[in-house]
Amino acid sequence: MKIAIIGAGFTGLSAAFELTKKKHKVSVFEKDNNPGGLAVGFEEKKWNWSLEKHYHHWFTNDHNVLGLAKEIKFDVITERPKTSIFLDNSIYQLDSPMNVLTFPRISFFDRLRMAGVLGFLRYNPYWKMLEGIKTDRFLREAMGENVYKKIWEPQLKNKFGNYANDIALSWFWARIKKRTPALSYPQGGFLQFAETLVAKIKKNGGKFYFNTEAKEIKNNTRVNIKYKMINDQWSYEDFDAAIVTLPSFFFVKIAPGLPENYKKKLLSLKGLGAINLLLRLKKKFLTDDTYWLSICDRNSPIMAMVEHTNFMDKKFYNNEHIVYLGNYLSFDHPYMKMTKDELLKIYHPFLKKINPNYQLSIINSHLFKTPFAQPIIPINYSKKVPPFETPFKNVYLANIQQVYPWDRGTNYAVELGQKIAKLITIKQ
Ligand SMILES: Cc1cc2nc3c(=O)[nH]c(=O)nc-3n(C[C@H](O)[C@H](O)[C@H](O)COP(=O)(O)OP(=O)(O)OC[C@H]3O[C@@H](n4cnc5c(N)ncnc54)[C@H](O)[C@@H]3O)c2cc1C
Repeated sequence: MKIAIIGAGFTGLSAAFELTKKKHKVSVFEKDNNPGGLAVGFEEKKWNWSLEKHYHHWFTNDHNVLGLAKEIKFDVITERPKTSIFLDNSIYQLDSPMNVLTFPRISFFDRLRMAGVLGFLRYNPYWKMLEGIKTDRFLREAMGENVYKKIWEPQLKNKFGNYANDIALSWFWARIKKRTPALSYPQGGFLQFAETLVAKIKKNGGKFYFNTEAKEIKNNTRVNIKYKMINDQWSYEDFDAAIVTLPSFFFVKIAPGLPENYKKKLLSLKGLGAINLLLRLKKKFLTDDTYWLSICDRNSPIMAMVEHTNFMDKKFYNNEHIVYLGNYLSFDHPYMKMTKDELLKIYHPFLKKINPNYQLSIINSHLFKTPFAQPIIPINYSKKVPPFETPFKNVYLANIQQVYPWDRGTNYAVELGQKIAKLITIKQ
């Protein structure tokens, strides 16, 4: 079959890899100049490795993506970096049952209660029974008001903003269930990993069109795709089938002929964008070696601080210290329109609280934004997950809003790509 794949993120790449192994004729259209999608990387002149525009790691139980790395013989590094929270102006490591039981900011009874609830979620395999319950309500009742207010409410609010009280417990369950103390990372960066996959797909006969945006999908006897290349040249091509890996609202945009009812359903699924201000520093920011710092402060202008070089060695980045200042925000949030200097000005007082001298150490900074990064998972989401098959014959939707009960991630993108390839192969 001649198959078009729209998007060279990990869903598209994994589907293309599977389909070309089965000798299908695959063409991948990607509007960016590089593969990797949300996990795409960039490289500075003196660096040996590329770096993701948005912080990325794998859990050691991310079997689909780790299995793919193994299959294409791509080396993966596993470390046990430190995860901490910033609470009442101090940093506390909080990444093991022992840390929870000795956590000094809450009473011993509250610690036991919190450990019990986290243990229940981690070892309970039945997520379905949790999806009708809201996370905030459950945490408040199960862990107690004090623990909820101190630790969880600020994190939920910082992450989901106005949606903080709408999130299903099955989402929180997935976060607790999947977290592993050790984390993995592709040697050389996610861009190298994606490029190696592209090379394998090309070797299997797959074609890539980078800097090429799919502008319209039509469904006649075959699937017709209209696309625009970097030189503003327009083209059309017919395929037997197409896989669209874009967020649902982009699919609606490029397929205006879809039935109104279907479009309405897709558009009712909500999501948040992401913004990361990346600081390249001469000196370490989190001097206690924390890699991931969740901010438990409602007044914080940032949700999390991720010091990548407290996970991967700074020698790969010309000895620079790399820090991400991350937020999930709706695309109409004022931060999304700001420049890196305007944002740094807003973040500055908060950053100074953590490390008063950080500013002297800045080599450079970069700002990365994306309109869709984090699906909002309301209660009973299993009834809302869009199917792979769409009203257009032989056009399949495979995006991160369909990996429920898991949260977004490259592991699930790879799994999704594998699933959709299998579905197409069976239906052939
Ligand atoms: C801040 C942040 C942190 C994250 N942290 C992690 C992490 O630690 N670990 C992890 O595993 N995952 C993480 N993720 C999630 C992960 O990156 C995504 O879930 C995953 O990459 C989604 O892959 P995808 O292929 O489904 O979609 P995408 O990566 O969104 O790929 C879609 C592709 O389609 C392209 N495209 C869009 N429109 C068009 C068009 N009209 N024509 C052609 N191409 C088009 C886009 O450029 C993109 O390349 C994070 C994401 C963000 C934003």
